[in-house]
Amino acid sequence: MEELDIVIVGGGIAGLATSLALHRKGIKSIVLERSESVRSEGAAFGIQTNGWLALQQLGVADKLRLNSLPIHQIRDVMIEKGIKQRESVGPASYGEVRGVIRNDMVRALAHALPIGTLRLGSQIVSVKLDEATAFPIVHLRNGQDIKAKVLIGCDGSNSIVSKFLGLNPTIALGSQAVRGFTNYPHGHGFQQEFIRIKMDNVVSGRLPITHNLVFWFVVMLECPQDSNNLKNQEDVARLTLALVCEFSDEWKEMVKKCDIDSLYISRLRYRSPWDVMSSKFRRGTVTVAGDSMHLMGPFIGQGCSAALEDGVVLARCLSSKLSQEDSMNNVSSRKQIEEAIDEYVRERRGRLVGLSTQTYLTGRLIEASSPARKLLLIVLLMILFRDHIGHTRYDCGRL
Ligand SMILES: Cc1cc2nc3c(=O)[nH]c(=O)nc-3n(C[C@H](O)[C@H](O)[C@H](O)COP(=O)(O)OP(=O)(O)OC[C@H]3O[C@@H](n4cnc5c(N)ncnc54)[C@H](O)[C@@H]3O)c2cc1C
Repeated sequence: MEELDIVIVGGGIAGLATSLALHRKGIKSIVLERSESVRSEGAAFGIQTNGWLALQQLGVADKLRLNSLPIHQIRDVMIEKGIKQRESVGPASYGEVRGVIRNDMVRALAHALPIGTLRLGSQIVSVKLDEATAFPIVHLRNGQDIKAKVLIGCDGSNSIVSKFLGLNPTIALGSQAVRGFTNYPHGHGFQQEFIRIKMDNVVSGRLPITHNLVFWFVVMLECPQDSNNLKNQEDVARLTLALVCEFSDEWKEMVKKCDIDSLYISRLRYRSPWDVMSSKFRRGTVTVAGDSMHLMGPFIGQGCSAALEDGVVLARCLSSKLSQEDSMNNVSSRKQIEEAIDEYVRERRGRLVGLSTQTYLTGRLIEASSPARKLLLIVLLMILFRDHIGHTRYDCGRL
């Protein structure tokens, strides 16, 4: 059986960020990724100031800035039965906001890693503890077993590692989201703003990435029957166009002219804030980061940035406890690793409870139809999150 020091499951944002953060602290890790390539489905993220601070620590912020425009403001529009009810414009963050293509981020993180760190085509199917040492063993789909001193689950929303930790399953929201890109060879001419429009049961957003490329999403708050019978990309495109049929011509044109291969439809899921508050995120020397730990809806756009922060904090905690040379081989290493993970969980829990609660309440408010429920949610948000973009001020600190 192969024996390794630190094994990270999942080569998405959290996994690569954690591995790179460890590498920058001089600690080696191996990332097991089930896909055969680092290319992924079409998606982009709005990265706010806190995410850029984490990317800066990882050393890839300047590279990513080259391919993404700064976004100056967020515009929220609410339309009901064809009548505009409200329109507000404000800052989207304290500081910097940019849209980043997921593939660009994954590639930037992966290319900064030493050769041999990322093992593609390595899907884990189970985790167990070694009876003699109590260190974790992961079983791969190809039959291979790997024993690790530290196992970090960054395997996303349907995480095998979080099941091993005994975390509750994530919960499905009623909504489904379609994400896509549209390329405008002669320039789109849109303002550098993130615009979000809620029209009855559909929320759609548009985020310019460059002067030629926009990322957009359409969220169906109540899913139509035919959203379960989609067989191919053309079906997804047809459904999405039908969902925005009441939007402006410019908006419909954006959806109509999309890159059909970039379309990606998914049901939104989340880990409840009370699970984030109370779950045990460590079992022995096994822990989780990113969506495996704190899957949240897209309503305040912090899932990816929070995953980057996890990577920086986890690497800092591990490196401060394992700084003595060869400490992985010391008799006391297990205790030190456990202490480091406990410190990571403590530091992250406070931050993540706030993010997941604000996301949860915002999502519930967007979905709410009864005026009384809306009012209650607004009051709760006002009391708990008076500064609604305060979450972008957070600094995860130096590596
Ligand atoms: C509609 C929508 C819009 C969003 N918008 C934003 C936004 O604007 N800003 C923002 O910050 N966040 C946003 N998010 C959230 C963001 O997409 C996620 O939080 C982020 O991608 C989480 O990264 P991750 O590494 O935890 O998971 P992922 O990126 O999903 O990576 C998990 C990786 O693990 C691999 N894997 C899974 N199982 C296994 C296994 N068994 N063995 C090996 N490998 C495995 C997968 O192949 C994948 O590569 C949005 C999400 C949605 C749905």
